[in-house]
Amino acid sequence: MDTDIRYSIVIPVYNEETVIDHTYRRLKKVMDSTREPYELIFVNDGSNDHTIALIKGFRDQDDAVKLISFSRNFGHQIAITAGMDYSVGAAVVVIDADLQDPPELILEMIAKWKEGYYVVYAKRTKRKGETFFKKQTASLFYRILSASTDIEIPTDTGDFRLLDRRVCEELKRLPEKNRYVRGLVSWVGFRQTAVEYERDERLAGETKYPLNKMIKLSLDGLTSFSFKPIRMADYIGAVLFFSGLIYLADMLLTAIFTASAIAGWNLVIAMQLVLTGILLTMMGIIGEYIGRIYDEARNRPLYIVSECYGMVRKERKVKRVV
Ligand code: UDP
Ligand code: MG
Repeated sequence: MDTDIRYSIVIPVYNEETVIDHTYRRLKKVMDSTREPYELIFVNDGSNDHTIALIKGFRDQDDAVKLISFSRNFGHQIAITAGMDYSVGAAVVVIDADLQDPPELILEMIAKWKEGYYVVYAKRTKRKGETFFKKQTASLFYRILSASTDIEIPTDTGDFRLLDRRVCEELKRLPEKNRYVRGLVSWVGFRQTAVEYERDERLAGETKYPLNKMIKLSLDGLTSFSFKPIRMADYIGAVLFFSGLIYLADMLLTAIFTASAIAGWNLVIAMQLVLTGILLTMMGIIGEYIGRIYDEARNRPLYIVSECYGMVRKERKVKRVV
């Protein structure tokens, strides 16, 4: 390991050809100002535009640039994990490629790290240029998550953060596949602190987090850090069972002691619908957990690297003969 590297910057990239050049230059400027050795690890998460070619271009001029390229799109959280796996710096910083996270803040994070903190996360006080829907759903999600778990996961923070090597090594020991990295960082513990910032707009290009990826991420967050959703099934089930019983008793008693007949079919059908709906939801929740158990049980590798440049750790190479 070339241990003289102080800082490893991990940048997950997925089709970021429109911003990557700006990002690289701004990061380089900030990191040069530390006057300490660093590496910029770009993790290409299966981009199918010119992102890789651009990164290779940076690398030709600059030895600090390193590249890990996946064989396909494995997802943002996995890309971050791979970057950490390959990093060698004494501190590791994870930052988005779209300049929504201002690179200049890294200097503040480093200062906190030098004060003795092991994790310095960036807390958003404002989010610019994001839709009302995204902000509201994100805020709702963070609140539900923190209400349903005992681990203190800071609200309104993304993956933009600095981790001490020690924390990074501990994270590498957590083998789970459906990763919610921010939660895992909290789980690991150690002294953690925040620096605040206003989240900028994406510099260019479109978000790479469509609704389905956001839903997957929130479900990963909830299911890996809380059993409450699955327990809800018990509570709701019990409440329904007893209210059903009381309701039935009431109807029977009324029928026996008064002259009125038992209520019409509409009522039965309505009840049926409600109950089936709840049952299905609960089965869905259980399914979420079982699916994840299955994922863990299969024990597939987290990601497959197709090429990598400038890394100390080497991937298994199989020569291609055509
Ligand atoms: N990203 C990734 N793989 C994906 C989706 C996103 O590596 O499947 C990267 C993306 O290039 C960016 C970061 O993750 O650097 C955050 O994505 P984005 O900015 O699109 O998310 P948003 O800020 O809109 O939530
Ligand atoms: Mg973004």
